[in-house]
Amino acid sequence: MKIDDVQAVHLRLHEVPPLPDGTLDVLMVKVIADDGQFGIGEVTSQSYVCKAVIEAPPSAQRRHGMAHLLRGRDPLDVEGLWEYLYYETNRYGRRGAAIHALSGVDIALWDLRGKILSQPVSELLGGAQRPDVRAYSSLLFGETPEETAQLAREGLELGLTAFKFGWGPFGQDPDADVAHVKAAREVIGDDCDLMVDAGHKFDVETALQRAKLIEPYNITWFEEPLSQDDRKGYAELCKQSPIPIAAGEGDVTAWDFEDLIERGLHVVQPDVAFCGGLTVCRQVSEMCNTHGRRAVPHCFSTGINLAASLHWISTVPGGDLVEYCLRPSPLMRKLVANLPPLENGRVPVPTGPGLGIELDPAIVDEFTVRYE
Ligand SMILES: [Mg+2]
Repeated sequence: MKIDDVQAVHLRLHEVPPLPDGTLDVLMVKVIADDGQFGIGEVTSQSYVCKAVIEAPPSAQRRHGMAHLLRGRDPLDVEGLWEYLYYETNRYGRRGAAIHALSGVDIALWDLRGKILSQPVSELLGGAQRPDVRAYSSLLFGETPEETAQLAREGLELGLTAFKFGWGPFGQDPDADVAHVKAAREVIGDDCDLMVDAGHKFDVETALQRAKLIEPYNITWFEEPLSQDDRKGYAELCKQSPIPIAAGEGDVTAWDFEDLIERGLHVVQPDVAFCGGLTVCRQVSEMCNTHGRRAVPHCFSTGINLAASLHWISTVPGGDLVEYCLRPSPLMRKLVANLPPLENGRVPVPTGPGLGIELDPAIVDEFTVRYE
């Protein structure tokens, strides 16, 4: 069997407000075999740019578009194709948009491989260790501690047992920050997990002060307190922080995650639709296992990303946590017709072949960007 074609389908809401929300504009990747079977993947990045990475015509060596490179190749050789695409795009790739695009191709190849072999992706990745995965929700802090408390109440009503609050007013004032964290903890009680996402706001010294201030509220992790590029800062902070430090949603390739792990990061958060795909996620969780770190998927876009994240993390020892996006966008709620649901705070891992998802053709049609 050979790969016949690769399509990059740009899905975008009719209005895209300037919010930090990955559910508004995504690139869907379809890898089609010569017998008509196909796999689906997703890219959470700049969709116009990543579509060009896939569709660009042949050029000089190691500058080709990915669809050209893939036509005629064996779709079952997923890891081999990752290495091939990485090398053959390295004049413009190695990091950034090319790796984001490669993520969507890689997810689609795993989906296709599962369909060809009639096995769920989790089975191909080594076998699910649990039939469902505990969910955590990501919410923006409210404008006031009372608003944050109300958001926590709404999450409890959905059955959630793990909550992450971030961004918004957090980081402007130490007392206000503590008041928000305290308000959330009081609502959710002592049995739920509470995480804080600082949204790159601090330097090492301020981050350490904040970590000490919020430590009494039993924080499961303190996420991205520093710039994503302050690698030395993370090394310093991870040594001293009284609560675990998390990062990685902006990182790509196993090499960059290896660097974060070597610098002491406690919780490692690759996004499967961004970091290089399931092939990279598996490498990252294997490193986490070896070094005693925790891998937790960053996942805030569509049901394709959610399904891929579930397949991966269900196979990871100690990997019983996935980010579950509650945004109302139809690209999150409806694109995947059989979206894995939130049930008693957990999400079932799809069991069908490949990713085990079905797309709603009406949603694909409604939100596809027509370039011509
Ligand atoms: Mg984050």
